[in-house]
Amino acid sequence: MTDKKINDMLTKYDKKNLTIATVCSHSSLQIFNGARKEGFKTLGISVGEKKKFYDAFPLGKPDEFFMVDNYKDILKYTEELQEKNVIVIPHGSFVEYLGADKFLTLNLPTFGNREVLLWESDRNKERKWLEGAGLTMPQEIKNPKKIDKPVIVKYHGAKGGKGFFIAKTYEEFNKRIKKNKSFNIQEFVMGTRYYLHYFYSPIQNDAYKISKGSIQLLSMDRRDETTIDEVQRLGSIAELEELGIHPTFVVTGNIPIVMRESLLPEVFRMGEAVVEKSIKLFGGVIGSFCLETVVTEDLKFKVFEISARIVAGTNPYVAGSPYSELIQPDMSTGRRIAQEIKLASKKNLLSEIIT
Ligand code: AMP
Repeated sequence: MTDKKINDMLTKYDKKNLTIATVCSHSSLQIFNGARKEGFKTLGISVGEKKKFYDAFPLGKPDEFFMVDNYKDILKYTEELQEKNVIVIPHGSFVEYLGADKFLTLNLPTFGNREVLLWESDRNKERKWLEGAGLTMPQEIKNPKKIDKPVIVKYHGAKGGKGFFIAKTYEEFNKRIKKNKSFNIQEFVMGTRYYLHYFYSPIQNDAYKISKGSIQLLSMDRRDETTIDEVQRLGSIAELEELGIHPTFVVTGNIPIVMRESLLPEVFRMGEAVVEKSIKLFGGVIGSFCLETVVTEDLKFKVFEISARIVAGTNPYVAGSPYSELIQPDMSTGRRIAQEIKLASKKNLLSEIIT
C-alpha cells in the first residue's frame, strides 16, 4: 500500500468521526477500552460469529461488530470500512490471521509503519536491524555439529514458540529435528526473561527524547509458557527428557513484572538504539514495540526477538502499569495508541503515524 494512497484516503475521512478497529482477539479488549476512554467509536472485526464473551466486558466491547466469514475477507470490505472512517490497529493475531503479504496490501489506514513487517519476519533482517543497533542477541549456531552448549531450535514462522526445542548436543538435536522444516539454532540464554513494552512517538517530545520524537516505557511482562514454565512440578527437565517428555514453549498467558530500577537506563538505551536504527533502515518503528530479552547473571541484556506492534503482554495493564502510572494514571498501551491518533488528527499529522 503506497503512503500516497493512504494519505488520499485520510484526506477524505471525517476526522471528527474516526473509528478504531481491530480483530476481536489478542489485545482487542484493551484496544477498544483505550479507544473508548479517548472518545473514539470502536469496531470489532469478528469471524463467523459475534463473540459472546464480549457481552461480559461492557467497557471492552466494541460499539459495533463487523462480521466476516474468513479473515482474508477483510480485504473485500475495505471500501465499506473506509466509509466508517476506520483506522486499523494491528496486533499479532491480526497480522497472523490475515497473512503478512495481505496485511501489507490492506487498503485501510493502519496505525504504525507496515514496512517493519519485512524486517521483523525475516530472522536475518531482524538480526541485521538489532545487532546493527548495537544490541546483543543470542549467538547463532550455523552448524549443528558445533553445538557445545544448550541451544534452542526455532522453526521459521512457528507462532507462539510452537515446536521449539532445547538440545544440549548434536546427537540430541539430530534425534529431534524435523528435517523438512527450515530452522534456526540459537544459544539458550540462561537468565530471567523480561518483555519490554515501549512506545515510540515521532510527533511528541515530552518523554525520553531521541533524534525525532520520544520514547516511553509503558510496561513489561513475563510470558507464561506451557509446559516449560511449570514442568519442574513433575521433575527436572533432564529426568523428564530421559522418559521422552520434552518441554514446550507455547504461550498461554502473561504475568506482570517490574525490573530493578538500576537496569532502566539500559532499557531506554536499547529502545533508543532500536528506533534510531529503524528510522535509517525503513522510516521507523512507529508506536508500540516489544523487545524480548533475557537478563543474565552479570546483568547484561540479550535480546532474542522484537515484536513491532502491541503485544498481548500489555493485557495485565488495562488500568495502567507501575511505569505508565508515572506518565499518566489509568493508561494502557491501547489507550496510549488512541491518544497518539487523537493528537495526530488534531495537529494534522496522521500521515506521520499511519501507513
Ligand atoms: P520466540 O518465539 O522467539 O519469542 O521464543 C519463544 C520462547 O522461547 C520465548 O518466550 C522464551 O521463553 C524462549 N526463548 C527464545 N529464545 C531464547 C533464547 N535464545 N534463550 C532462552 N530462551 C529463549
